[in-house]
Order: sequence, then C-alpha cells, then structure tokens
Amino acid sequence: MTTTAATTTSTALRIPGFRGVLVTTRDREYDAARAIWNGAVDRRPRLIARCTGTADVAAVVRFARDCDLDLAVRGGGHNVAGTAMCEDGIVIDLSAMRAVSVDPTARTAVVQGGALWGDVDHETQAHGLATTGGIVGHTGVGGLSLGGGIGWLMRKHGLTVDNLVSAEVVTASGDVVRASATEHPDLFWALRGGGGNFGVVTSFRFRLHPVGPTVMAGPVFWPAEDTADVLSFYRDFVADAPDELGTVIRLGTVPPLPAVDEKLHFRPAIAVSSCFAGSVEAGERALRALRRFGSPLVDLVGPQPYADHQSGLDDTVPHGWHYYWKATNLTGLSDAVVDVVADHAYRAASPRSYSAIFHLGGAVGRVAPDATAYPGRDVEHTIIIDAAWLPEQDDAVGTTETAWARNFFKALERHRAGVYVNFLDSDDDSSRIREAYGDANYRRLVDVKSTYDPENVFRNNKNIQPARTA
Ligand code: FAD
Repeated sequence: MTTTAATTTSTALRIPGFRGVLVTTRDREYDAARAIWNGAVDRRPRLIARCTGTADVAAVVRFARDCDLDLAVRGGGHNVAGTAMCEDGIVIDLSAMRAVSVDPTARTAVVQGGALWGDVDHETQAHGLATTGGIVGHTGVGGLSLGGGIGWLMRKHGLTVDNLVSAEVVTASGDVVRASATEHPDLFWALRGGGGNFGVVTSFRFRLHPVGPTVMAGPVFWPAEDTADVLSFYRDFVADAPDELGTVIRLGTVPPLPAVDEKLHFRPAIAVSSCFAGSVEAGERALRALRRFGSPLVDLVGPQPYADHQSGLDDTVPHGWHYYWKATNLTGLSDAVVDVVADHAYRAASPRSYSAIFHLGGAVGRVAPDATAYPGRDVEHTIIIDAAWLPEQDDAVGTTETAWARNFFKALERHRAGVYVNFLDSDDDSSRIREAYGDANYRRLVDVKSTYDPENVFRNNKNIQPARTA
C-alpha cells in the first residue's frame, strides 16, 4: 500500500528503491523528525527514512543490512523508552503511512503501520464500528498492537491482538510476507504480543465490532483523602461488572479540563474513568452505583461520542514533556495493595505525574495464555506509575519524580505479577522482558525470532534475542 507520491530527498544520498523522504542531520527538519512523545529521549540517528509504502520499508531494511547500520522503527513514536529512535543508525519512520480503510460489510479495517488510534477511531466510527485500541488518541497503532493492546473495549472484545486478523510484514531479509492463522502462523503468533522483534508491520487487518457511536462514558473524581475507600468500593464494583464496562483508575490531580470548575484544577484526586460498550441505558444502569458512591468532587459521566471519549485524555499527556514510567501487573486489589497505593500515589511533587490502574478480565481472560505471545490472561489489574515534568524544569525535578515512581514501584514488590511489555521503560532490563512473557512464551518467541531475524536486525525494542546471540 502506498500513501503519498514519491518525494525527492534533500540530500545527495540515495537508498536504492526508496521513494520517500530521507532526513539527515543537516536538514532543517531533522530535530522535528527525531522528536518523539517522550521529550526526555534525545537520540540522534544518522538518517531518518520517512517511508511512503511497503516497498520503501523493504528498501530501507535491505540498505540498513548492507551498510551494517543500526535500525529503529518508528510507529506513533509513543514508546516511553524511546525505542522508535536509535543513536547514529537509521530510522524507518512510518509517520507518513497512516491510511485506514474500512470494510463495513466484512467488519474489518486495514490500517497502515504508522497510523495513530485517532485515525482508526475516526474512520471506523463513521460506520459505527471500532476495535480495541489505546485510551489516548495520539498513541501509535504499530507499537501498541504488537505489544498486546489494552483499552476501554478489551473486556468485551478482547485485546487489540485478539482482533488482529492478519498483518503484512517486511522481514529482516527485506521480504514481504503475510502473517495470519494460516500463513506463517508462527510469525502471526509472535506478532500478537512479541513487539517489533520480527519485522516491520506495514499494515494490520483488524476485526471490528459495533460500538456507539454514542456511549456512556467519562470520569468521576473524588478527593485524594477518599482514595482507600474508593479503591475498596471499586474492587467489589468491578468484580461483578459486565464485560461491556471498561474502567481505568487515575490517581493524581484533577486535570484542567474546560468542563471542570477552575477551583478544582490540579487538586489531588482519584478518578474512575469508564466507557460502557453497550447501550446508553444499560451503561447508565451499570454505572449508577459507582456514581453514587461517597461524595464525588465532579462527575463527568454522560452519553458522548465514542471517538470523543477516545481523544478525551489526549491533552493530559502531551508530546514533549519529560516522562519516566514504572509498571507492574498486580496480584489483585487487596487491602495491602490499597494501602500502598493510597500511601504513595500523591507523593509526587509534579502535578503532571500520575498513576493509572487498568481493569482487565472479561474477554481478555477467556483466551489461553499460549494462544498469543501476550501471556497475562489471568491478570485483573495492571498499574502504571507515570512521572511527568516539563522540559524546561531543572534536572532536580526529574530526579525527584523518577525517585517517586521507583519508590512507589518498590513498595508494590510483594504484590507484583508480571508486567505488560508496552509499559516498560529504558531502565527495565532483559529480566523484566522475560517477566513480561513468562518462561514458556519467552522460549517460543526466541524460536520465532531465530527463524525470522537470526541476526537481530530488529533490536531497538524490548528485545528478544535470537538463539544464536542469546
Ligand atoms: P513507537 O515508539 O513508534 O514504537 C515502539 C516500538 O514498537 C518500536 O521501537 C518498534 O519496535 C515497534 N513498532 C512500532 N510500530 C511498528 C510497526 N509498524 N512494525 C513493527 N514494529 C513497530 N498501551 C496500551 O496497550 N493501551 C493504552 O491505552 C496505552 N496508552 C498509552 C498512552 C500514552 C500517552 C502512551 C505514551 C503510551 C500508551 N500505551 C498504551 C503504551 C503503548 O502501547 C506503547 O507506548 C507503544 O509502544 C506505542 O506504540 P507506538 O507505535 O506509538 O510506539
């Protein structure tokens, strides 16, 4: 698939067979081209190859191999660890490959490898359809899907990988293959959770489901002092929740949203955000007890377009701030976990830092742990501790926020149960990558890696080393 016409490069350097834009360190747009979501990442690749289609991607993979250049793949550029950029090598930049094509009869969408979730929601919702995607619209489809994909719809419709029908992949040899249940099934298994280790996915075909377009959704905020009570109530509330109900807890401060009284902006608070993937009436009923609990500061739940809800958090985590994450799956929301969370969540100094707990279960848990590379099927709750500060702030602020995230994470030590690979940061080592997959799935991923990328060409990622170099 090709999105745009051939564009001339601004440099004398040519890559055989490549028709996209080649950005070098000398180009005016170099700094913009290497900037990704996490402003704390400052890598300087030698070349950024903005591809226009699959043929360009294959040309760059072959070129990188021939020239022995380190290679990185940029989808939406959201990975907190900054794996979309490499130091001194070449980047396959998919940001010009964002086309989404919906087949409303077959209920599928073909999505190019550089699309963002906002692109997918925009096109699929035009037909009243959707698939499970991330909860922030400017997150990339590529990295999110290849790691698993958790979002509002997962309890009803499964993870993003559970909705993957097939993928077009440029492998380490520069070949273009299709992976599905019947074509390269080993590769298809690995792509559903194994990250960008096995090739560049130039397009994904996803299964779609009727959703909305109007859904019952939004956050309810309570004062931070009520955190332990809210969490204890929430634990029982979601234990009986229907699959249609997706919820995420956010602990931090009230964001300065236009719909919120200014007096509440940046006040420490716990929020439970919801999205009900069914009728508005059923959503109203399902959310009644939550909305009536305690004394909320503000209740923003109401009928709204699903696509709006999907982009509602976009401004709270903008590009360019500095971010550092720690994450772990939780054994549950026991009283001990509730105490740790209530104790640590509000110790961050920056009003931009927050933590979030996703509720999984439902359809996610009805898939066998070895059916896809994503193994954590019995996990009910996963927490991400997100330190965030402004680029212009002193290094000391970053140090303080990072320490907050690490201490919070450490306090959860006894309650850890694996981790979602897409939430790992750059200082999470190979033992945490193994932790993300568990022994059995990790071993199988090494086998697939050894078949499709024995020289570890795709290594700027949460790397699974092939058997030969392991
Ligand atoms: P990139 O940084 O572009 O890519 C990360 C890695 O993925 C690359 O190094 C590469 O190895 C690989 N990759 C990307 N695209 C391709 C491709 N087309 N082919 C082959 N390899 C590729 N995750 C969730 O599951 N649910 C959420 O709701 C969610 N919310 C998030 C919100 C924010 C604000 C952020 C920053 C992240 C969120 N995440 C979420 C985590 C997200 O899944 C990862 O950050 C993911 O890596 C983002 O994908 P990307 O394409 O934007 O990343």
